Amino acid sequence: MHPIRRAAEAVERLHDGIRDLPVVGPAHAADLRQHLASAYRFDAPRDAETVVDDIAAMLRRGSVHVTHPAYFGLFNPSVLPEAAAAAALVAGFNPQTAAWTHCPAAYEMEQHALRFLAARIGFDPATVGAHFCSGGQEANTTAVVVALTRTFPEFRERGARALMADPVLYVSAEAHHSFEKAAHVAGIGRAAVRRVPVDAKLRMDVATLVAMMAADRAAGRRPFFVAGTAGATSSGVIDPLPAIADVCASERLWFHGDAAWGGGALLSSKLRGHLAGIERADSVTWDAHKWLQTPLGGGMFFTPHAAALVDAFATESAYMPAARGGVVDPFNASHQWSRRSAGLPVFAALATQGAAGYERLIDDMTAMGDLLRAKLRAAGFAIVNDTPLPLVNFTHPRFETGEVAMGDVVREVHRGGRCWISPTVLAPTPDGVARRVLRACITSHRTEERDLDALVEAIVAALG
Ligand SMILES: *Cc1c(COP(=O)(O)O)cnc(C)c1O
Repeated sequence: MHPIRRAAEAVERLHDGIRDLPVVGPAHAADLRQHLASAYRFDAPRDAETVVDDIAAMLRRGSVHVTHPAYFGLFNPSVLPEAAAAAALVAGFNPQTAAWTHCPAAYEMEQHALRFLAARIGFDPATVGAHFCSGGQEANTTAVVVALTRTFPEFRERGARALMADPVLYVSAEAHHSFEKAAHVAGIGRAAVRRVPVDAKLRMDVATLVAMMAADRAAGRRPFFVAGTAGATSSGVIDPLPAIADVCASERLWFHGDAAWGGGALLSSKLRGHLAGIERADSVTWDAHKWLQTPLGGGMFFTPHAAALVDAFATESAYMPAARGGVVDPFNASHQWSRRSAGLPVFAALATQGAAGYERLIDDMTAMGDLLRAKLRAAGFAIVNDTPLPLVNFTHPRFETGEVAMGDVVREVHRGGRCWISPTVLAPTPDGVARRVLRACITSHRTEERDLDALVEAIVAALG
């Protein structure tokens, strides 16, 4: 049998039988290493079918199964089968999408999907600059680099050392930590990131943002960028995007919307109003590989300033083809050079689900989040966060009194193998308290009420 068919069968078996698997595979690192050391000395060729089967077997035994319907962890989704199929096509055809001439088919399918999603943000699809990338980290880094290049014309050629004043950027205390890495990589240093305190609902406190900016300007620094988070990683909270957009407009700063996970809400007519203001952003991060149920490696970056992307990333070289087809080649409008077509799984999923199908997936998962909140309350838990999105932060009186340690309960739930959940610490609220909470996110379109019951039962049992 062709090894690809063998691999496809393994994926089909995984998806069909996922409920029978423990969410946390039983294999320990030591078992895996021992197996690798004895079975894989790489000293002789082996039959591809056997190797594919064994890779699948190791993955089954040695993974947290993020495609399990009772995986309530970070935004690592169950994968739609059509998206996995398109990823297999990408692996097999290996389209090189650095330059349009090498794979106009993949490029056009990707841009077609991106234009549809850009319109959902509220950007003009005819003029948007957009590309698929590795993930939210890369998209947020792209935003910082493009904003620096746009704001400080000398940055492109001479770098941060040419700037007369220290550039600073602002994100909320609940924002993702990719901005520290982005500032580091961009050469402005991690200390350039200002973390703006949050209000009692964990949203960026915009009055404090304005005060911090004034203090920075008074100290001779140069504010250039504010990111509003639409769906924070720990709490799912949405920053006050219209107020941040107003500040950016009056202070002439780049406004970035980090909707890595929450962008999915733009596909739902019930939810999209919560992201109002994002259409005023200068750039947006949106990961298909979070809420859109496509494989990892499906980040997306959007900007209405397509020319600013080219200013930041265009180069000239004798070995690349000249642009043709009326397009700017992706290697000249993004950070990557050789590019895997990360967008075909998204194209395939959009084509298969249609807008209505995607809306149903998003709404169903949101309804599961609401149902989980109700079930947790009924079982004596307190819900701590306030978001319309399906991410629940909760605690229990027995944690608050110190009778039971949260970490022990999480470990016990994982040991049980029926569900996966994680703890997190929320940003300090104005009362100075940074709450340690449990975090459950609905990140699988396969999650059903029985999975919620399994989670609540597992936590109640672990509480003792
Ligand atoms: C996950 C996440 C990121 C980082 O995205 P990756 O795809 O993991 O690189 C950035 N911002 C937010 C709000 C996120 O949730």
